[in-house]
Amino acid sequence: MRSKEPKRILILGGTAEASELAHRLARETPDTIVVTSLAGRLTAQPDLPGIVRVGGFGGLHGLIDFLRLARINRVIDATHPFAATISAHAALACAELEIPLEQMHRPMWRKHPGDRWRWAETMEMAARVAAKARRVFLTIGAQELAPFARRGGPFYLIRMIEAPHRALPFRHYSLVLGRGPFALAEEMALMESFGIDLLVSKSSGGPATEAKIAAARKLKIPVLLVKRPS
Ligand code: NAP
Repeated sequence: MRSKEPKRILILGGTAEASELAHRLARETPDTIVVTSLAGRLTAQPDLPGIVRVGGFGGLHGLIDFLRLARINRVIDATHPFAATISAHAALACAELEIPLEQMHRPMWRKHPGDRWRWAETMEMAARVAAKARRVFLTIGAQELAPFARRGGPFYLIRMIEAPHRALPFRHYSLVLGRGPFALAEEMALMESFGIDLLVSKSSGGPATEAKIAAARKLKIPVLLVKRPS
C-alpha cells in the first residue's frame, strides 16, 4: 500500500542549490510533488516550480507537524552550511517520523598558493580581528552584522542581497547590493576601488561566491574565514 503513495518531497531551501534541485525534480520526475520551504528572510522569492511555502515551521515540533500533515515521505536539506538550526531540526524530525533525509553538501573552498587565510571560530572573534584592519569587505550576509558594528573601528564595505530597511549602525560604511554568482574581474575591481585590506567571509564554499576568494588571492588581500557551525 505504502509504495502506491505519491512521492512528496520537502526541499529545505534558501540556496541556489535548492532552486536548481527543485527545477531538476520538476523536469525529471513530474509525478513527484515537490514542496520547497523558504525561511522568508528576503522580500524577493526565487521563481520555483512546485509548491513553495515561506516562513519558519515554529520549531522542531512545528516541523514534525508539517511533515505529518503534508504527508512528506522524503526530505532534502539543501540549506546553507551556516543554517545549523533548521538542519538540526530536519535531522531530528526525520528520525522521529522515520522519513529518509538527504543533506546536500556544499564543498569547501580549496586553499591555493598565495591565499592568505585566517580562521575565526565565531562572528565575535572575526569582528575582533576585523576591528584591527583599515578597510574591510564584509560579505557575511545581513543577519550577523551586530558584532562588527559594536566594535566601530575600520571602514566597512558591506555586501547584502537586499537593501536593509534602515541605516546600518556602522560609523563608516558603504553598502553594495548583489547576489552571486560574481565574476572575478568585478570582484577585483570592487576591492581595488574601495582600497580593501581585509575580506571577511563565512566559509560557505561553493562556486557562486568563490570569485571574491580568488580576487583576494590575486590582490594579495588577507581573508578572514568564519568556520562553519558543526
Ligand atoms: P537557521 O539559523 O538554521 O534557522 C533559523 C530558523 O529559521 C529555523 O529554526 C526555522 O524557523 C527558520 N528556517 C530556516 N530555514 C528555513 C527553511 N528553509 N524553511 C523554513 N524555515 C526555515 O537558518 P538561517 O541561517 O537563519 O538561514 C535561513 C535561511 O536562509 C536558510 O533556509 C538558508 O538556506 C538560507 N541562507 C542562509 C545563509 C546563512 O549564511 N545563514 C546564507 C544564504 C542562505 P522555525 O524554527 O520556526 O522552523
